[in-house]
Amino acid sequence: MTKRDYYDILGVARSASADEIKKAYRQLALKHHPDRNPGNKESEEKFKEAAEAYEVLGDPEKRQRYDRFGYEGMRGTNFREFTDINDIFSTFGDIFGGAFGGSIFDEVFRGGQRGRRRSSAGQGTPGSDLRIKLSMTLEEIAEGVEKKIKVKRQKKCDLCSGSGAKPGSSRTTCPQCQGSGEIRQVSRSMFGQFVNITTCAYCGGEGKIIKEPCTSCGGDGRTAGESTIKVNVPAGVSQGNYLTLQGQGDAGRRGGPPGDLIVMIEEKPHEHFRRQGDDIIYDLLVSFPTAALGGEVEIPTLTGKAKLVVEAGTPPGRMLRMRDRGIPHLNSHGRGDQLVHINIWVPTKLNSEERELLKKLSSAEHINPNEEERKSTSKKFFERMRDAFS
Ligand SMILES: [Zn+2]
Ligand SMILES: [Zn+2]
Repeated sequence: MTKRDYYDILGVARSASADEIKKAYRQLALKHHPDRNPGNKESEEKFKEAAEAYEVLGDPEKRQRYDRFGYEGMRGTNFREFTDINDIFSTFGDIFGGAFGGSIFDEVFRGGQRGRRRSSAGQGTPGSDLRIKLSMTLEEIAEGVEKKIKVKRQKKCDLCSGSGAKPGSSRTTCPQCQGSGEIRQVSRSMFGQFVNITTCAYCGGEGKIIKEPCTSCGGDGRTAGESTIKVNVPAGVSQGNYLTLQGQGDAGRRGGPPGDLIVMIEEKPHEHFRRQGDDIIYDLLVSFPTAALGGEVEIPTLTGKAKLVVEAGTPPGRMLRMRDRGIPHLNSHGRGDQLVHINIWVPTKLNSEERELLKKLSSAEHINPNEEERKSTSKKFFERMRDAFS
């Protein structure tokens, strides 16, 4: 795979200052942030690409080396490619501090420590993170809910308890790396001495080898399976939020630490309501007599039916506010409201008797607006439009 030039990735000149580089990276990272682009693979790639570029160009020493030697110059440093979003957060936590600090990022996700468990010699390879979508109704979101979800994941092998070695046999220290999992090579060049550290190919970096593999898992230390996992979703989440369940992803290879399970929240469309922030909107169709004379109507809410009083003379387009009938605010007190939009029903099927009644009504004294009322109604309409579009 050919890689793009790091300066191109960040969109800065080769002469860019450290500040310009930091700024460019920050903008890209915010734009392609996984929270803003849930499930978008392309953004995720761009996010990783930018992080990789910044890890080099944001460090004066690495940048200098990259300028002189290109990608080749990056070998033998502690440079690594990002393969996991969580790596990026643990490395660049400080840069996001201002932008995401105190947001749902830290709190809902309860990821807390986003730092990845890293594999070290003798501990096996960490398991993969898994992503799963969780669909929720508005009612569930309003209440908060405990959900049981089925997840296909790699589980620790029962027979060998994850070691990968046949029970009774044991793992022995790798003869190639003497258990360190790394091969160090010192190379000299006209630019100085480089220590090149590579993963030991013989043991795969684990520092230990298995003489007799487990018969159940073939030495992997895990087997495919399905688990039911309980997820507690707090009230007030919304589409695109996610929860990180630490250690609930794939089991690690040969006793390595497990990955995380990332639960992405999806909001199911509701038959009555539209969500707007933490408010919910309901469109109430009332008859002209009810709007004119007033009356009590029964309407749905997130917690069942409720009575709503429509005052005499309620015009179409009015919004009635039912306080605290909306979605609870995430991580703070209080909740949104239910907004009821008044709409007037105009009948289309009329029998002859109804037709006669309406004809009589149409010539009644107060049924048609006078000039004054027409003007004031139009004025209110234009004010509402201005508010809606400003
Ligand atoms: Zn096994
Ligand atoms: Zn080794």
